[in-house]
Amino acid sequence: MTDYRRLRVALLGAGAVGSQVASLLRQHADELADRAGARLELIGIAVRDVDAPREVDLPRELLTTDAESLIVGADIVIELMGGIEPARTHLLAAINSGADVVTANKALLATHGPEIFDAADQVGAEVYYEAAAAGAIPIIRPLRDSLAGDRVQRIMGIVNGTTNYILDRMDTEGAEFADVLADAQRLGYAEADPTADVEGYDAAQKAAILASLAFHTTVPLESVHREGITAIDKSMMDAARHAGYVIKLLAVCERLNGGADESISVRVYPALVDRAHPLASVHGANNAVFVQAEAAGNLMFYGAGAGGVQTASAVLGDVVSAARRHIAGGVGVGESTLANLPIVPIGRVTTRYQITLEVDDQPGVLATVAGILSDGRVSIANVEQTVAGEDARTARLVIGTHKALEQDLSETVDRLAASGVVERVVSVLRVEGD
Ligand code: NAP
Repeated sequence: MTDYRRLRVALLGAGAVGSQVASLLRQHADELADRAGARLELIGIAVRDVDAPREVDLPRELLTTDAESLIVGADIVIELMGGIEPARTHLLAAINSGADVVTANKALLATHGPEIFDAADQVGAEVYYEAAAAGAIPIIRPLRDSLAGDRVQRIMGIVNGTTNYILDRMDTEGAEFADVLADAQRLGYAEADPTADVEGYDAAQKAAILASLAFHTTVPLESVHREGITAIDKSMMDAARHAGYVIKLLAVCERLNGGADESISVRVYPALVDRAHPLASVHGANNAVFVQAEAAGNLMFYGAGAGGVQTASAVLGDVVSAARRHIAGGVGVGESTLANLPIVPIGRVTTRYQITLEVDDQPGVLATVAGILSDGRVSIANVEQTVAGEDARTARLVIGTHKALEQDLSETVDRLAASGVVERVVSVLRVEGD
């Protein structure tokens, strides 16, 4: 056996991901040593309760509640506790003590990323976070390294497995949101409190991380426009299917304009995606990130966006990278935010829309609706009258628009709602992916 140098690895957290990381570190110790060029010695695992039942058997003597002491003297610290505090304090302490750090903590990076990256820069340490944006899917390294010589134009990501699972079952089984959510909670795909997933908070954190990397710009979480999927119902799903679309919760990170006016938009919302688009075939709880780059063209990264052992794969990849760098020495790559492009509010974003209206079924109504749209600078691409109301007094109009400014569109929809001919605005959905 090669006599490798030993690197001391401290693990913070032994939950769904941490317990699998600990197990794989021990199980594949020899192989990992060959790949890293160093023996990765797990010196301890910080948890809240050393006696809590664990998914995998971990040596009792490795468990401790004293994370602070564990960090002292570690070469690599893996943070898998989640949440902001005490994870932030521990990561900063690890960096300041000279360790390289690995984390999967999207909530922390999306809110305190600059502070953590700056601290690492100051001491020449490196922060690895491959698992923070899409679980097992390699996307951080492709954006940070593989595409470093290209210009990313747009990222469209299905980055939340829970919402994709719910929307996929609504689409394929014709089920209602509340029923699928209850099922997802029973099966463990959704948390007891599903807010972070179904309201788009989790996806927004990931969007902020991806956009920061792709556009070399600090993207504060507050600048990410966020809408969830709770308003999506069976009738919207049916209408989408009828029109050749599927509804997906998308994280869209986009470069806008060019030259001196260059800016970016980062947003999360449910959108209509053409069934022929690669993202439409992402089923179940899977994730996918579709990247459009100037020279590389279209790239799609697909796979498991969560799961303890799957996510542990990405974490271990980071640990091996950290070990190699620790041995080779030199300063870390650091985060590049040199471009620092302005981030535009949602009102200044341009997309296509599908507007569904319930209108009076009378002559001249279509002309009135078309007039309001045209006055609002929203140009119609197609119109379909789908279902007559039960009383045959109302009709349903499904209007596809050409690209329009969000602000124009929303003011126009308000005017439609207030007009005498529209009984109800049934839905307004963006169309993404052309
Ligand atoms: P988890 O199952 O809730 O485990 C958290 C672990 O951290 C537990 O072992 C817990 O100890 C420990 N911990 C929490 N607070 C602590 C404290 N104050 N002091 C000491 N230990 C503490 O979490 P997880 O699902 O493994 O997620 C870990 C991280 O990975 C999160 O940032 C998450 O966003 C990210 N991530 C998770 C997944 C996934 O599929 N689960 C996917 C991608 C990214 P006890 O066991 O004693 O309670």
